Amino acid sequence: MLITFNIRIFGIVQGVGFRPFIANLAEEFQISGSVANKGSYVDIFAQGKREELKNFIAAIPAKAPERSAILKIDTTEISGDKNFDGFKIINSEREKGDIFVSPDIAICDKCRAELFNPADRRYLHPFINCTACGPRLTILKNMPYDRERTSMGDFPMCEKCSGEYHDKNSRRYDAQPVCCNDCGPEVYVFGKDISGGDAIKFARKIIAGGGIVAVKGIGGFHLACDAGNFAAVRRLRNNKIRPTKPFAVMFRNLDELKKSCVVTEDAEKILESPQKPILLLPKKKSGHIAENVAPEINKLGAFLPYTPLHLLLFDYPDEIENFPAALVMTSGNPSGVPISIDDRDAAENFGDFCDAILSHNRKILLRADDSVADFFAGEISMIRRSRGYAPLPIFINSNSRKNILAVGGELKNTFCLAKNNLLYASPYIGDMSDLRTVEVLKNSIERMKDLLEISPEIVACDLHPRYHTTQFAESLNLPVVKIQHHYAHILSCLAENNFPGEVIGISFDGTGYGDDGTIWGGEIFVCDAKNYKRIGHISKFIQAGGDKSAREGWRIAISLLKDFPDACDLAKILNLAEPEKIDGQLFLLKNNLNCIPSTSAGRVFDAVSAVAGICKSSTYEGEAAMKLQARAERGKDVEPGNFEVGEDLILPTDKLFEEIVRRKIEGGNVCDLAKFFHLSLAEMISSACEKISRRENIKTVALSGGVFQNTLLLKLTIENLQKRGLKILRHRTIPANDGGICIGQAFGLFFNLV
Ligand code: ZN
Ligand code: ZN
Ligand code: FE
Repeated sequence: MLITFNIRIFGIVQGVGFRPFIANLAEEFQISGSVANKGSYVDIFAQGKREELKNFIAAIPAKAPERSAILKIDTTEISGDKNFDGFKIINSEREKGDIFVSPDIAICDKCRAELFNPADRRYLHPFINCTACGPRLTILKNMPYDRERTSMGDFPMCEKCSGEYHDKNSRRYDAQPVCCNDCGPEVYVFGKDISGGDAIKFARKIIAGGGIVAVKGIGGFHLACDAGNFAAVRRLRNNKIRPTKPFAVMFRNLDELKKSCVVTEDAEKILESPQKPILLLPKKKSGHIAENVAPEINKLGAFLPYTPLHLLLFDYPDEIENFPAALVMTSGNPSGVPISIDDRDAAENFGDFCDAILSHNRKILLRADDSVADFFAGEISMIRRSRGYAPLPIFINSNSRKNILAVGGELKNTFCLAKNNLLYASPYIGDMSDLRTVEVLKNSIERMKDLLEISPEIVACDLHPRYHTTQFAESLNLPVVKIQHHYAHILSCLAENNFPGEVIGISFDGTGYGDDGTIWGGEIFVCDAKNYKRIGHISKFIQAGGDKSAREGWRIAISLLKDFPDACDLAKILNLAEPEKIDGQLFLLKNNLNCIPSTSAGRVFDAVSAVAGICKSSTYEGEAAMKLQARAERGKDVEPGNFEVGEDLILPTDKLFEEIVRRKIEGGNVCDLAKFFHLSLAEMISSACEKISRRENIKTVALSGGVFQNTLLLKLTIENLQKRGLKILRHRTIPANDGGICIGQAFGLFFNLV
């Protein structure tokens, strides 16, 4: 007797070859019926003998395509005497529900082999892809995922491609962006009559000769130059107005990468994963990378080619010899401005200093910068969650019927749309201080709203009255909920760990707007997903000098010195700045001019970095702290200082600073000093947690905020907390920095709506 099942499969099941996979599986088990994309799930009717149906259903998760992610399978037996004839793939229908949009996927090994096989008809085709690889999110107009709803709709398939697309046994069966040399998009040199292979050769020649080429990729343009060429890198720095911030380097392959970086087995897996993020790896002394690529930092942001065009840039079969095996590949944008995604924008932003723009005619519909990750305890520790990861949702154990928008923070902005039990964070948007970025935020929200079919009914934003994101949230004519910045950090950590319960929240961060209007950033909360209480913080100091004080650690150092009887002399002995600047800063402090109380932990790192003589003022966010960490990692395991945390739960960072100054004046070793600072701070945090744990009977500590990107502080803190028997929640795939704020905002709003 034949029976029929209706099977619904939820998850990343579109654009990853799921329908053909099901059709083939059905054939294998002699099942008839149909499969269709329903926008939110794949809908299957399967008819056959009971035993075979059972095996068929069991085989679905066991054999699913590698790029898919099954989250749920619903199976219902249906009655009726409809008989299916064979197994059919039904074209997409529109249906409402949870939407799972696949992130973009790096080129797979099979496509790579074809790309360099002269006998293959896609030999050297810069847009080769299959069901297991290729662009997804960045070319998608709306769901469901079908060719005409992507920017590949402009390129009708040729007969051969169409044949593969419709052939169940082909690797390209149902692969929406499938194309070839005859029917696919084309690369060209912008403003010149050069296209195809000649365009790639043209770009290669320029790069090999030490020039700079803008290259259009998956989610935007890169600026590329030889990473081993000091002068080329210097020119790129000058033009991009980016004096010292490290550049990411793309290596020709893993072997080349290993020549310049230390790569563990775990790191290797992440480097070669379908997401291909930029990974921060320890530099090798023997490396081939110019000194000015990542100056004074012991790590290098390294990644591998992830599009066919990247591979062709490195290995095009032409007469150019000695093409560099490592390229600086930095986002194509002036500092602080969103990455360029079309020719006009590219020409405007860097046309005047690039030696060529290597572009193509496949439209990028949504920006996606490269993702950046560090590495902690064998796992990824995300710094920028973007291409390859966004917009994969985070699942939480509760449902909200409201559609939510969380607009995120001001720096490293991302936003989040949420519905049911899913939080979808956007790719990286950028720094909102530039109004062009605000425009991109607006446009990206519109696009993601369409894609995910979420129309926000309520919006969450930061508490800061002058953030552009706050003003934008207020302009939407929706109910607005403001969530304190550092609480949002802890919420993002709770969301990532799917833990709505009570925790001790350690939010160590740069600056954010506090409930009392002062600057916060070294905060201790007792909180859950609904409420928070600020229970402690680092010792308060005065930030004088406005925005400058956020970049110039020497100013904070003087604030921290100000109550020393010999502050002025000490500042001069420590050579914190020119004498007149020191006097000026002390004048501001004495007369309470442009002064605001602060508990920012990030600023204390800046001040210590300045006192230690490592970095007195930062040219990019986090520079002073990163350099301090780099030194600390070379420091000896000194005894941490014994700084008692009182019943008021104020961490005596002022005393710690005093001790640092004393040791520095005595001529202490800089690396040991930096290590001492990290060790002592971790010890302070942990002993405060121990006190709170006993007092409030809470056993779990959540660590978040930009300061916890510092993997040394993270490691020391975790070790100390574990020794005290406390459980730790930390970040992995959601950034601890402001890139994770939107998730925290959405999570907080979510739980206050349930
Ligand atoms: Zn492929
Ligand atoms: Zn074709
Ligand atoms: Fe923050």
